[in-house]
Formats: sequence, C-alpha cells, structure tokens
Amino acid sequence: MAEFTMDLNDEQKEVRDWLHGFAADVIRPAAAEWDEREETPWPVIQEAAKLGIYSLDFYAQQFFDPSGLGIPMAMEELFWGDAGIALSIVGTGLAAVGVLANGTEEQIGTWIPQMYGDVNDVKVAAFCSSEPDAGSDVAAMRTRAVYDEAKDEWVLNGTKTWATNGGIANVHVVVASVDPELGSKGHASFIVPPSTPGLSQGQKFKKHGIRASHTAEVVLEDVRVPGSCLLGGKDKLDERIARAREKAAKGGERVKNAAMATFEASRPAVGAMAVGTARAAYEEALEYAKTREQFGRPIIDNQGVAFQLADMRTQIDAARLLVWRASWMATTGKKFENAEGSMSKLFASETAKKVTAQAIQILGGNGYTREYPVERMHRDAAIYTIFEGTSEIQRLVIARTLSGMPIR
Ligand SMILES: Cc1cc2nc3c(=O)[nH]c(=O)nc-3n(C[C@H](O)[C@H](O)[C@H](O)COP(=O)(O)OP(=O)(O)OC[C@H]3O[C@@H](n4cnc5c(N)ncnc54)[C@H](O)[C@@H]3O)c2cc1C
Repeated sequence: MAEFTMDLNDEQKEVRDWLHGFAADVIRPAAAEWDEREETPWPVIQEAAKLGIYSLDFYAQQFFDPSGLGIPMAMEELFWGDAGIALSIVGTGLAAVGVLANGTEEQIGTWIPQMYGDVNDVKVAAFCSSEPDAGSDVAAMRTRAVYDEAKDEWVLNGTKTWATNGGIANVHVVVASVDPELGSKGHASFIVPPSTPGLSQGQKFKKHGIRASHTAEVVLEDVRVPGSCLLGGKDKLDERIARAREKAAKGGERVKNAAMATFEASRPAVGAMAVGTARAAYEEALEYAKTREQFGRPIIDNQGVAFQLADMRTQIDAARLLVWRASWMATTGKKFENAEGSMSKLFASETAKKVTAQAIQILGGNGYTREYPVERMHRDAAIYTIFEGTSEIQRLVIARTLSGMPIR
C-alpha cells in the first residue's frame, strides 16, 4: 500500500533546485528589462533551450513524474523568476499539449519539434481558442472550418484574440467550429503550419502585466490547411460529431461549455504559476520588513506588518497544497468529483493577487516604484484570475459540481 508522504524525492529536489538556479540567475535579472521592452525575450528562451528547459523532452519528463508534482514544481520555480518571461518559455507548451492531447502519433512527431525549433533557431507556438465574442463562453466561437473534399483541405475563417505568441508563432493550433449547431461539441483543433497564407497577426496588445509575453489577435482569412492538419484525423472527428448529433437529436445531454468543464486537469498548472509569483513577492516583502527600520526598529517588529507576512505565507502554502492535490489527482487518475482543479486555480490566483498587493504595502513608497520588483509582480498577478477561466468561471464550475444544479 502506498504510504502518504509530503517529502519530495531526491530527483524532484534536484530538478527544483536546478530550475530555481535558472530562475534566479537568468530569468530574474532580465525581468525588469523585458517588462519595459514589452517584447518576447528571445535570448532568454534560447538560454533555456541550451539547458534543455525549453523543449518537449523537459515537459514530458515533468509530466510523467508519477507523483504529479513535476509540472507544478517547474511552473512555480520559473514563475518565481518572472511571470512574463516564464510565460514566454512555457507558452509553447500550452500549444504542444493541445497536440499531445488530440493529435495522432504522426502529428505529434511532425509538429511539436517545429513548435520549439532548435537551440540555434528557437521557435514558439500559439494556442488560439478565444475570440472577441467568445471568451468565457467558448461555445459562442465563430471561427469556422469547412472541409473541401475535392482537395482534402480545411478552410479556416475567423478572428482569434488574446493568443499568447499569436502571429509570431511558427506553428499555430487553432480551435474552430465544424458544426456551429453543436456548440463546443462541434469544435475541432487544427494545425496551421509555418508561413501558411491567410494567417496574419492583428493587434498586439499592450498589457498591464506579463508584458514580456506576446499577446495578439490572429486573423484567419481563407486559410487552407491539408486534411492531415486536423488533430486526431477526420474519421475520429466524424464519429464524434455523429455521436453529438445523435445526442442533440434525442434532446438528451445539454451541450456543455468547454471552458467551464474540460480544463480541470490543466488548471493546477496555472495555479502553480500563481504560487510562484506570490512566493516571489512574499520573499521580497519578508526581507524588506526585516531590514527597513522606522521608529528605531525593523518594521517587522510591528504585529501589523508581521501578521500580514504570517497570513501571506499561510495562504501561499495552502494554495500550493491545493495545486499539488489536484496535480496528484490528475496524474493518478482520480476523478475530480469536487472540481478540485478549479479550486486550486481559483485559490492560488486570488492568493497571488492579494499577496502581491500586500507586498507593495509592506514596501511602502518603494513598493510602488519600478525600482523594486513587487510592483511588477502585482501587475503580473492580475492575469491569473483571468486566463484559463476567470475566477468567476472557476466558482461556477465548483458550485455546479458540488450542487449538481445548473447555477448561472
Ligand atoms: C494575457 C492573456 C493571455 C491569454 N492567452 C490566451 C491564449 O494563449 N489562448 C487563448 O485561446 N486565450 C488566451 N487568453 C484568453 C483568456 O482565456 C480569456 O481572456 C478569458 O477566458 C476570459 O475571457 P474574456 O476576456 O472574453 O472575458 P469575458 O468572458 O467577457 O468575461 C468578462 C467578465 O465577466 C465575467 N463572466 C463571464 N461569464 C460569466 C458568468 N457566466 N458568470 C459570472 N461571471 C461571468 C468574467 O468572469 C469576467 O469577470 C489570454 C488572455 C490574456 C489576458
């Protein structure tokens, strides 16, 4: 029988320390510069590639850690370094997971290497699902994919928004509707290969935080991709659509909103990113509180400051435990009966927002300036309650799961 333990094994500790070294020595020192430049930090990505951190192999190794803690530990350390740069490093992984989850072996072998490029010519990939009128409500997606049987090609038309690495990616994974009547059940994912005509970058967004990560619209105008670019293949899609039509005709299962239900297993990874940012801000605040003197003593001598730090640390540890539980559940095949994945993302992202704001308060005027990193961390933390499902959507998922009621 498996023993319960909270101890990390030697291998996990080694990986964690190695990543922490990279985050401390390479990511953190570059953070302020790339935040100001609001550009993809290609040299840092290349550095990560040289060490093997920017590669599918690295993610696969962490993903297959039997405890489930490989990915959350990696995310926490990289995002501890800096959220914008870390997202530039792991953003490709989000698109790669889309291919791993739905693609055939051939598609995985063909496209994932092109997503990363090689050490001397690093590339990135983008996952494009959100649209101007389909954010939380993924089922409202308008991008269409129409099959041209004569040429065995799919034709994509629509506008995607908020795509991390959108327009600068070598490979785009695009979610489109093949049958709008079926809502999210009629969606399919497509690879858009490098330099495909008709795909262009729309507006690049100037953001509040994670400014080193490129976020842009992706416009698809009569984008033609070979039949082999439909992830999973046509037979599988046809079967799935036929089943969904049958159910819809019977008036049976309600067509569910994918954003609300299907990300339970991937959400803890975002929670882990939030834990990384929160921990970074907490550590800055703790050090500052121990060294900054007012009224002839360190400010941490005041309970008003010390208790804030106690609460910050407690919440960060609680967030990490929720993230680890959900990651362990995902890896060991436990059923998310209480929306534990959403719980972990909700609590960790709200914690990051709160803790980074408290860190600014503890640093006083300095905390409010760009001379100290907590100002940037606070701006960065605001993303966690928005992407991969907003906090409100997490609460909806949790409440519906717990109650079994169609809460709106
Ligand atoms: C920096 C950044 C990077 C991103 N990267 C990607 C990416 O790589 N790929 C991608 O596809 N998408 C990406 N996104 C999109 C992201 O997932 C969406 O922004 C998110 O899902 C929310 O959608 P929305 O912005 O349209 O907000 P909306 O859905 O319009 O929500 C607005 C507000 O209304 C609330 N709300 C909506 N519906 C309900 C409801 N039923 N009950 C209660 N409250 C509700 C929301 O919680 C929110 O507070 C990214 C976004 C950002 C900002």
